[in-house]
Amino acid sequence: MENKLVRIAIDGPAAAGKSTIAKIIAKKLGYTYMDTGAMYRCVTWYCMNKGINCQDQKACEAVVNDIKIDLKPDNTVLCNGTDVTRAIRTPDVNANVSYIAAMKGIRLVLSGLQKEFAKTHSVVMDGRDIGTYVIPDAEVKIFMIASVECRAQRRYKENMEKNIPCTIEDIREDVKKRDYIDSHRDFAPLKKADDAIELDTSPLTIPQVVDAMMKIINQKLGA
Ligand code: C5P
Repeated sequence: MENKLVRIAIDGPAAAGKSTIAKIIAKKLGYTYMDTGAMYRCVTWYCMNKGINCQDQKACEAVVNDIKIDLKPDNTVLCNGTDVTRAIRTPDVNANVSYIAAMKGIRLVLSGLQKEFAKTHSVVMDGRDIGTYVIPDAEVKIFMIASVECRAQRRYKENMEKNIPCTIEDIREDVKKRDYIDSHRDFAPLKKADDAIELDTSPLTIPQVVDAMMKIINQKLGA
């Protein structure tokens, strides 16, 4: 497998645990983890911070090239040098990010960066369109799903641990709303790639999901 790039695409609906699992898998395999959702969140944070309406496509697309996003190896996220790791996870950003992510001009810029990165790195990339659009020839494609209730409970617990104030009802509504907008947009919507393997994580613990993923990966790579 030496010198050959391996690209692992993990897609699925909001709060399905993609990033938690992707980080663990990337560490195990020694590949780079790329959180593409953090990139859409950065653009959202930037627009909100500048007082730009996140449903004003023209205004949002006009500033996308002013934004420099740095995803650090320790998962810190910098937006034009400012640490926004926490700020991009607020309920306000959640409420707006799917509008930003539906804008073609924004997607072309961010997915362009993602495509370039995947040309030269073995990567575990998580998002909504990785297996269908960003890396359609990825060596491994996994589509992670879980029930809305299960996803809402997990995200609620995670937010409590990180001291992010929220209610379970708000999270449930946010997850449903984002899934709807993400899967109904015209350009690169949330969709399982035909050749992706679906993994329902509802009944599984984190170590069980990691085990299931590693089995799929080893099988696909013939390891
Ligand atoms: O993965 P995460 O929940 O952080 O993503 C935030 C939002 O970014 C999603 O709800 C979606 O609107 C958008 N997104 C996307 N395509 C990706 C990754 C994220 O549209 N590849």
